[in-house]
Amino acid sequence: MSETRPNFIGGEQVMSETVPDINPSDLSDTVGHYAQADITIASQAIDAAAQAFPAWSRASPQVRFDLLDRTGTLILERKQVLGELLAREEGKTLAEGIGEVIRAGQIFKFFAGEALRMTGDIVQSVRPGVDVEISREPAGICCLITPWNFPIAIPAWKIAPALAFGNTVVFKPAEQTPGCGWALIDILIEAGAPPGVINLVMGKGSDLGDTLIGSPKVDAVSFTGSLHTGRRIAARCAELGKRVQCEMGGKNPLVVLDDADLNVAVSAAINGAFFSTGQRCTASSRLIVTEGIYDAFVSALTTRMRALRVGHALDPATEIGPVVDERQFRQNLDYIEIGQGEGARLIGGDTPTRDTRGFFLEPALLLDTLPDMRVNQEEIFGPVASVIRVSDADAALEVANAVPFGLSAGVCTTSLASARRFRRDLVAGMVMVNLPTAGVDYHVPFGGRRASSFGPREQGSYAREFYTIVKTSYIG
Ligand code: ADP
Repeated sequence: MSETRPNFIGGEQVMSETVPDINPSDLSDTVGHYAQADITIASQAIDAAAQAFPAWSRASPQVRFDLLDRTGTLILERKQVLGELLAREEGKTLAEGIGEVIRAGQIFKFFAGEALRMTGDIVQSVRPGVDVEISREPAGICCLITPWNFPIAIPAWKIAPALAFGNTVVFKPAEQTPGCGWALIDILIEAGAPPGVINLVMGKGSDLGDTLIGSPKVDAVSFTGSLHTGRRIAARCAELGKRVQCEMGGKNPLVVLDDADLNVAVSAAINGAFFSTGQRCTASSRLIVTEGIYDAFVSALTTRMRALRVGHALDPATEIGPVVDERQFRQNLDYIEIGQGEGARLIGGDTPTRDTRGFFLEPALLLDTLPDMRVNQEEIFGPVASVIRVSDADAALEVANAVPFGLSAGVCTTSLASARRFRRDLVAGMVMVNLPTAGVDYHVPFGGRRASSFGPREQGSYAREFYTIVKTSYIG
């Protein structure tokens, strides 16, 4: 079963040349053929969003609530089918795919409520006879550029707040996952999205980016993806004076202290480093372990890691799905080689064959690594983690913070004092105590520091900082 889908602009289907979308678990399976927009089509999408903006931005919060709430309901009702599509297109296991779909549904439900909670402030003026009112208005036309690794949840956490607060949207999903992008659009249409409120253009970011970001009609750009692209987009938006929000990479540490519960620490490492094939910006890619627990931790981790079943994402026995595509697959293998070249000792990391041809990679652990090695400084974005042995908690903290990124950071300890110290001193947007660095709630802010993030936080009530603009009115 394979579909052919056009772009979606102003409520109309707009066809252009298509490219095939391949299942990473089975390269003989084509998920669909998806249109590749050109810059004319991208401009049409921006015009459609601009045309729809006046009516949508003034629509009653009830109208916006209803659209988002219905969207959330439909997503949750179809979690099985959507989860299967996600697993087939991106390579997450079915259980992970369904989990992501549920999260997307919950996000739409949460932001449905946020549409009703768009409050302001009234304060007394310092001048007699004057009232001061602080209110929020939609940011305007939002261009949302998303990556492949959470192809339903990330679009959901950008589209839902954008629409909740009265913005209109041009959405460009990643080249690898247009099918999941379309699945969301289908549901938004069914839920009653008016023409032009949400527009979908597919294709290469490098071809469409300048038009999408450069158009004077686009007011705000929200991006999730690589550091290189995010930096470029942020710089361009600064030049043009546009609102911008970028979520980029991570090199997230999981610190395991001598007093950690071994089982908790190993479970956090397995989950954080390898689940979702390590393709999470919050993945634990550096396991920083103190002397006293090092041998026990590495031995237990290795045993659990070797038992993980790698295979076809839709096989119920699979625990680790394939890598998303050939480029990422090669990049992972290159980094494994780079790590070994730098002196690391490799465990795992084989490329097994399965019944179908796919991008299968066994989880890989790089032992005996030093903090300054490339594999400990650059984001790999695959099922590859390195272990760094340190003498004590002080050294662990120093190493944990010694990278350009600061998205998520974890510590495993049974000491309240250590937990408090690491919570305070880890330089990261999110800190996890006795939990994997990946796996977050849908109703609280998400984001990082340093090179990981730029601009206001996403998700939860904090999302309004990006998707609304404050107006201060003086009434005499
Ligand atoms: P990855 O390496 O994970 O594919 P990218 O940053 O290249 O990360 O891609 C994330 C998203 O950004 C995708 O939707 C991609 O099409 C888009 N993109 C890539 N290059 C650009 C660009 N120059 N301008 C705008 N968007 C881009």
